[in-house]
Amino acid sequence: MLGGRLLEGAAGNAGHIGHVVVEPEGRRCACGGQGCLEAEASGPSIRAAFGVDPAEAPDAVRARTGTLVGRGVASVANLLDLRLAVVAGSVALGFGDLFLAAAQAELDRRCRLDFSVGTRLTAARLGADAPLVGAAAVGWAGLGEL
Ligand SMILES: [Zn+2]
Repeated sequence: MLGGRLLEGAAGNAGHIGHVVVEPEGRRCACGGQGCLEAEASGPSIRAAFGVDPAEAPDAVRARTGTLVGRGVASVANLLDLRLAVVAGSVALGFGDLFLAAAQAELDRRCRLDFSVGTRLTAARLGADAPLVGAAAVGWAGLGEL
């Protein structure tokens, strides 16, 4: 969201943070890149890299994932002058406080510009319904209702 409106981009993909590079020498990504957030911190990538179901991931994996998400969000916050990031999805919501604390610590470490100091990251309050509510909002906006 920017100025109270959904920022769409030329092809409707603005805000798709999954292909921000968080580990330059990291895992190959389906996009053809390497070390993208999606290749490092998504449920399937965690399963492939660590051989565990994300729901059973040990604390070290949860913390590492939070750090990588914080790293990606920090790049976006420093680029776009954003002060709040809301995260959702089974990994972000399922990994809980350890994940959120690691993500915030990484944000605090990397958001050092006058305008980005204090950038916060929080879990979506709508929980697992957040993507559906967001999709409905996009639909309403398309109809000129928002
Ligand atoms: Zn990618």
